[in-house]
Amino acid sequence: MRDNLFENKDGENSEYKVLARKYRPKIFNDIISQSHVTRIIKNSIESDKIHHAYILTGIRGVGKTTYARILSKALNCTKNENDKPTFEPCLICKNCISIEESRHQDILEIDAASNTGVADIREIIENAKYKPIMARYKVYIIDEVHMLSNSAFNALLKTLEEPPEHVKFILATTEIKKIPLTVMSRCQRFDLHRLTIEELANYLQNIAKKEGVEIKERASMLISKAAGGSARDGLSLLDQAILTCKDSVIDLESITQMLGIVSLEYIYNLFDLILTGKLNDALNIVRDLYIKGAEPFMILQELIEISYKITLCKIGDAKNLILSDFELKKCNLIAEKTSIIILTRFWQMFNKALVDMKTSHNEMLSLEMTIIKVSHVNLTITPEEILESLDGGDMSSKITQPSIPQDVKKNFSI
Ligand SMILES: [Zn+2]
Repeated sequence: MRDNLFENKDGENSEYKVLARKYRPKIFNDIISQSHVTRIIKNSIESDKIHHAYILTGIRGVGKTTYARILSKALNCTKNENDKPTFEPCLICKNCISIEESRHQDILEIDAASNTGVADIREIIENAKYKPIMARYKVYIIDEVHMLSNSAFNALLKTLEEPPEHVKFILATTEIKKIPLTVMSRCQRFDLHRLTIEELANYLQNIAKKEGVEIKERASMLISKAAGGSARDGLSLLDQAILTCKDSVIDLESITQMLGIVSLEYIYNLFDLILTGKLNDALNIVRDLYIKGAEPFMILQELIEISYKITLCKIGDAKNLILSDFELKKCNLIAEKTSIIILTRFWQMFNKALVDMKTSHNEMLSLEMTIIKVSHVNLTITPEEILESLDGGDMSSKITQPSIPQDVKKNFSI
């Protein structure tokens, strides 16, 4: 039981260190993007007002366990002569080193996902009574704490309420809503932010440089986007990209291939063809992408995303988007050709198609039919437009702006 409970989930035996481990921040100031949390921790350590229980929340891979480990070092580093915790652990004292190597006897990392029962928590409580062997504080890091059973939470509650002076709890969770309020109210809460695409891309650029690899700007942006704000996921993708790149250069093309996603150039062309009604060309692009391995679901997601980007460019709000020069140019070019009404209809139809696709027996057929349907959107007149025309508006302009799809004219008798 003990081996399982306090197992080292990083698997320290493996020789090859993945980037996420190699570059895991060792001190607070190495952590990117979470200065709001670091500042509070710094103040509490320096003013000697350290809470007895913390709860860290945020999506996976934003640094929850990293914070927990650095905080454990900060609480137990012996560099200060006054025997107090420090905001800047030395990394060379016995405590710092063994915490860094995840082998400190008094710093106990528990994965609640595999130790959910009340018996596991009772063992912790029992263990908490005894003073630390060599640390200043015994620290219990409980990862994925939302996985604990109700009875386990109840068992933990009393110790959380009045822990022995030598005990600190650091709880981490991706699902804060599942934590009972009674537990929450006894902890100081820190919300770790999702990294922005730009922050993560810059970070990946720095790491790639340290690894002697060049990563093109658009390639790093694409990885960041795929990582969804998680530093760990971003680094895992970079790991993969480094292994597959040629001549130590990672370009957009290789990332596109690696992720199995569609090149943005294709998608913008596809969008343009749908908008201008060049239906046969649009379907040819989609089929070509499909043969090259792109998933229909992903193509649709990309179409939704660029509908949004073009709409923001149309209303002059592009500053809120992180767009490369290429994308900005494309978005503006397409935005000039169309109207907000058409763009919002595209958005609605693509989104509806995405929902329908989840239950479709054949995603590709579903995508093709969506493209055929959406390319007719310029011909559909809304009730508002009819009313407007009855009020004396010129309806012909609504129908002809933008122009009637060429392939539609050619292929369908309308
Ligand atoms: Zn130290």
